[in-house]
Amino acid sequence: MKYLFVFFFFPSILFAQIKVQYQVFYTENMATEGIKIKVNYQQKKATDSTYFHFSNQVWGQDSLLNCFKTLANENQKYAFKLIPDSNRIVVYHPTSKEIGFYYRIKQDYVGEPLEKINRPRIRPDHFHILGESMFTVPEEVFNSKVENHELGVTIDWIDFPEKYVIHNTFDSQKKHQNLPKIKLWGELYHSVFVGGDYRIHQFNCENKPVYFAIRGNWFVDYQDKKLLDALEKTIQSQRTFWNDNSANYFTVIMTPTISTADSSFSGQSTTGSGVWNAFDILSTNNPFNNWNVINYIFNHELMHSWIGGKIGMKHEELNYWFSEGFTDYYTYKNRLRSKDLDFKTWLEDFNVEVLQAHWKNPERNKANFIIKDDFWKSRDVEKIPYRRGAIFAFWLDNQILIKSNYTKSLDDLMKELLQICENEHKKFNDELFLDLVQKYLQKDISYFFQKHILDGQDILFEKSDLIEGFTFDIEKNLPKLNANKNVEKRYLSIY
Ligand SMILES: [Zn+2]
Repeated sequence: MKYLFVFFFFPSILFAQIKVQYQVFYTENMATEGIKIKVNYQQKKATDSTYFHFSNQVWGQDSLLNCFKTLANENQKYAFKLIPDSNRIVVYHPTSKEIGFYYRIKQDYVGEPLEKINRPRIRPDHFHILGESMFTVPEEVFNSKVENHELGVTIDWIDFPEKYVIHNTFDSQKKHQNLPKIKLWGELYHSVFVGGDYRIHQFNCENKPVYFAIRGNWFVDYQDKKLLDALEKTIQSQRTFWNDNSANYFTVIMTPTISTADSSFSGQSTTGSGVWNAFDILSTNNPFNNWNVINYIFNHELMHSWIGGKIGMKHEELNYWFSEGFTDYYTYKNRLRSKDLDFKTWLEDFNVEVLQAHWKNPERNKANFIIKDDFWKSRDVEKIPYRRGAIFAFWLDNQILIKSNYTKSLDDLMKELLQICENEHKKFNDELFLDLVQKYLQKDISYFFQKHILDGQDILFEKSDLIEGFTFDIEKNLPKLNANKNVEKRYLSIY
């Protein structure tokens, strides 16, 4: 009988966690030579070669292994082979369990091309790098016995000057970071690391710290204080909506891209990305800076902490109609609720930026599946799921309000969906969603869903689709939502 115990203890040895140590070194010339990193890893068996993973494609960028360099004089007795198609670095080393080598992450472009903002950015005064483009991991983490691709990571920041700020989506101003149990894809590789001349501001939301990291001198009304106040208002209102103040650490990072004091670059390009514990904003900076744009981005990106974050997507791009569309819908609805937008402005924005913008999109009737292939290739395709999903959310919100005689709304469904995903460790998929909708509407909307969301036909609102006080018309080939003044309270379920 006592042999049984062997089997009881064996699994804990099999599942022993992978531990990887990184040291990141400050060097004066890192803008030209790249940021120097040492990785240490102890494998279970001694070998003379080991596979490491480095993502060659991230967020629409390809050939990212161009940014990965090794120097022979720093890695004596080591040799490397890069295999971009397999996202792989083959590391040849003396036979050993212990592996340790230096590599550099280099910026591989010049100037400020806006299409390259997601590539490693390393400048004399700062850097901005996605975690996935900074840290190579042993492929052992993909072994099926490693649950959720989890690993333990330490990061030490070495020789960085006192004034050089180290800030990232895991911690602020910590020279030693210990992440004992971290998921590869959703966490370590869904992160941003910055350093240099960033200014760090902090406020608390019910005793939980929120950090705002910003650098550069911004034009018009993008002052630190004004941005910080808007951020605080957004965070408070959304955490109240979701009844969720559980985030022990949260940060927003804002980095200027093309900065011009004159009107030589008249465009405005602001990109926000929701990542683990954070969202990251990269924006042009010029006299055209528009407060409404940045405030919209704060609201949209923060909403992703829940929609797309805690309510995780099973099929990424195929679920963008939900993760982007419903996020966008709640961006508008939440700004109305928090009085960031008055009702008239909300109605106008929803008409112009959602309904009419969708109708003007030549690709608007494309089927959902093409979004998977073409999302990063075409601006028009990229916009489909945001607006199609937001229009669907508005339809569904109205349906639930009507069906429940104004006792429930889409808000209740969303909060229940969050509970299901968190408590039952489920990811969002169409079936889960349609089942929940059925519970609220007491009818199956699969046919409607297939026709309008998957096939892409326009949603045209009948009077009976909308709560009392809303009407819908097509004027000059463009849709228009009209509202009487009593509808706001009904829509927001305020009595
Ligand atoms: Zn989004």
